[in-house]
Amino acid sequence: MIIVMKNGTTEEHITKLSNWLSERFNVQVNPIYGTGTTVLALVGDTGAVDKDALLLDKYVERITKVQEPFKLANRKMHPQDTIVKIADGVEVGGKKIVVMAGPCSVESREQIIDVAKNVKKNGATVLRGGAWKPRSSPYSFQGLKAEGLDLLHEAHKETGLPVVTEITNPAHIELFMEKCDCFQVGARNMQNFELLKELGQTDKPVLLKRGFANTIEEFLMSAEYLMAGGNKNVILCERGIRTYETYTRNTLDISAVPVLKRMSHLPVVVDPSHAGGIYWMVEPLARAAVAAGADGLMIEVHNDPAHALSDGAQSLTYESFEETMNSLRSIANAMGREI
Ligand code: PEP
Ligand code: MN
Repeated sequence: MIIVMKNGTTEEHITKLSNWLSERFNVQVNPIYGTGTTVLALVGDTGAVDKDALLLDKYVERITKVQEPFKLANRKMHPQDTIVKIADGVEVGGKKIVVMAGPCSVESREQIIDVAKNVKKNGATVLRGGAWKPRSSPYSFQGLKAEGLDLLHEAHKETGLPVVTEITNPAHIELFMEKCDCFQVGARNMQNFELLKELGQTDKPVLLKRGFANTIEEFLMSAEYLMAGGNKNVILCERGIRTYETYTRNTLDISAVPVLKRMSHLPVVVDPSHAGGIYWMVEPLARAAVAAGADGLMIEVHNDPAHALSDGAQSLTYESFEETMNSLRSIANAMGREI
């Protein structure tokens, strides 16, 4: 349920009403302060809340019921787009389409610093790279772990690029808080609710990837877990889902972009690398994502894809990343955006 307050309602009245609602009906009340209007987002069992009685409050403008199970992530709660700030000058959800680029895995100091410099040169504003790698096989490269995180931090200091990297274990949160700018929750952990609850207690941005077998509603419910804990800095990432098609690694659900933008106020990023699973598909899928209204892209770029320790087949070389960025500019402009 959403209660829209009249312009000019005092904070004192909002606090009084919020306290009364939470005590009387046992619901969580989240005030969202806009420029003029304040909205109270009620979460929990609002069945007993008497709408008519509430309308007797002269400061209440209107009341809307939210049918969907996700409340805080719902656009009805927050009609304007949310902009998530990853670092100074790097905001996801605004006019500029944010490109997060880098290798699948951090492999060495030389590698991550070289990739960081190159992606920066071609317009990426966030460095990606995995330190803890959730691999399908226990015999595959598992990542450099804490050393990888340190190397990402070094690459950040060297280039100024903020870092997004995947967290797989709540026990690592403290370490990540110091060494990265944005947590990544991978597709395999989208419904790791204990991890989500812990990340929800922090205020660091979270890039939440859609699980490859999850519906859009389940995806938004996972965002809700983060937000219910108090972390409002959530970025959604569509990275392809599993279908009967085997030609591609996953099927990029491009329709998820307009659906998510309509249902939620959270920014939406598309990862064309894990969707297509092969380098030559990255550019056309990235173009489609920008045309569909994505707020950002996550692209795997490697210094030597043929010898990458993970996901080499889908990684772009420096040259193909440069070409891709150039080809995205005209589409971004046509969408009234920048890249
Ligand atoms: C990744 O970004 O390297 C990754 C493992 O992605 P996903 O969780 O989407 O498979
Ligand atoms: Mn990868």
